[in-house]
Amino acid sequence: MQGFPYERAIWLGLAVWLAGALVACLMPAPWAVRIGAMALWGAVGLVASLRVAWWRPRAPRACPLFLMLHAVSEAVVDPVCPNNSIRPGELARLILDLRRAGYTFHTVSEVLFDPGSRRVALTFDDGFVDNYTTLFPLLRELGAKATCYVTNRGAADPTHFLSAGQIREMADSGLIEFGGHTANHTVLSEVSAAVAKREIEENRAWLGEIVGRLPATFAYPCGGFTEETVELVREAGYVAALTMRKGMRPVSLAPFEIHRQIIPRGCRPWQAYFIATRGRFRA
Ligand SMILES: [Zn+2]
Repeated sequence: MQGFPYERAIWLGLAVWLAGALVACLMPAPWAVRIGAMALWGAVGLVASLRVAWWRPRAPRACPLFLMLHAVSEAVVDPVCPNNSIRPGELARLILDLRRAGYTFHTVSEVLFDPGSRRVALTFDDGFVDNYTTLFPLLRELGAKATCYVTNRGAADPTHFLSAGQIREMADSGLIEFGGHTANHTVLSEVSAAVAKREIEENRAWLGEIVGRLPATFAYPCGGFTEETVELVREAGYVAALTMRKGMRPVSLAPFEIHRQIIPRGCRPWQAYFIATRGRFRA
């Protein structure tokens, strides 16, 4: 499929399927054989369709695609969630495929404050150190922007998480925006309001000091939030927050409950493309 746009591949696939169905219907054979062939061909079409989910409409042009990723690594970084380590080649291919389909890559603030057509916000949660060693050079090479949601963990554990120096260098490049993710990756829906408030504010202040300006958006660790959490995030000064809920919908509906598509590890290129643009999720 390399080199052939997936949007056109849908129509080509449909045309091939219809032609096959017609051949099965018109072939010189007893009706029982023809009906059997049509049923078989129908099943092939159904299985292919279920895998691709081509019938789902693409998100409207004005609706930005928020994609959720974590580590970018050949090896699985977190064995508990292998899907959270996309391979660099898979990510590069997805960026190129989306770009060929007319999408451009922006930071979360850019897609929120400067809406445009067919925009993608790549987001990387947790601030794994490979976001500096692997993702950053890849985005530089491809000229694509992204947003990283980081905790303060790199201050004590720079082996695994982004250090202050790395964050500053990435932010200064203009390619990467940084957003809040609590100081210690605390699941906000599971702690007291006082702890949640401290976690949000410590993280925001730390990032603000490193980058030179306070982060504008936030991502809830593990997607955990409540109505109270939303208020705390808003009060801290954030203007929007991202969840782990799947699907796509206009940001204006609930700026503090933005949905994201999860791009799992090991997807075939066309699967990743359809997940990103159609909201299909396959674990
Ligand atoms: Zn996280």
